[in-house]
Amino acid sequence: MRLADRYDGFLIDLDGVVWLGHDFIDGAVETLTALADSGKPVAFVTNSPRQSPPEHAETLRRGGVPVEDSRVVTAGTTMIALALERFGPGPEVIATGTESFLKQLSDAGIVLLDHAAWDRAEAVLVSGHSGFDYGELKATSMAARAGALLVATGHDPTMPMPDGLWPGTGSILAAIETASGQRGVITGKPEARIFEKGLEAIGASAGEGGITGVDGKAMRVAMIGDRADTDVAGGQAAGLDGILVDASAPPAGAAPSLEQGETGDGTIPDHVIASLADLLEPRGQ
Ligand SMILES: [Mg+2]
Repeated sequence: MRLADRYDGFLIDLDGVVWLGHDFIDGAVETLTALADSGKPVAFVTNSPRQSPPEHAETLRRGGVPVEDSRVVTAGTTMIALALERFGPGPEVIATGTESFLKQLSDAGIVLLDHAAWDRAEAVLVSGHSGFDYGELKATSMAARAGALLVATGHDPTMPMPDGLWPGTGSILAAIETASGQRGVITGKPEARIFEKGLEAIGASAGEGGITGVDGKAMRVAMIGDRADTDVAGGQAAGLDGILVDASAPPAGAAPSLEQGETGDGTIPDHVIASLADLLEPRGQ
């Protein structure tokens, strides 16, 4: 039996699972194409709003993965939803993030204040980017200290890149939290909201009786990611099975004793695979 056969649908992380930096991980495109051919719904759930959902979808399609824009959910999507729910249309915010992230906010009607106007901010919206500097730290932390709601797309301290782990949004959030004395609300994994949006994208929802599809039938859905604390633990808390991608894990079937192994933070993944391609490999029970 293949691991993929145990599930009716999948939520899949992008960074560290589908690609590393700009490079697709070996076997990922073939596996995602095979899953699409099987008719089982797949949505991509990422804490990274460095690009918008349509931009992420376009990157996937350019790589050969068949996917619709609506099947990509980012922590930017959920951050925008939270800001509009909480403050109504046109909230005034101090924001930090990539150019694409800031455009996603303004396209949603969120008003991006100049740094000097930090005292007018209703919220501080944080997503990591390589241009983060002292001026941004100052404006974001002073606004948060003055009472603006501090919101971040994630608290992952690092992000996987081809040459190692780069500082991620969590490291930048930690600086703002330290400077402001406030704690950030997280809109990405491991919080429930982004998993709910991911399930919605594949036509499923989580309820008391478990996960069901549009037809009301029970669905088995797996969250597949490379972070035990956010992808696996968060997915499990949202009612999904959590599959950890750990490149150091042995290939499928080679060492079943490592199945169900506990990770450093106490999370127990339902399965551990070395790469996405292992989903389609025959394995022992
Ligand atoms: Mg990841």
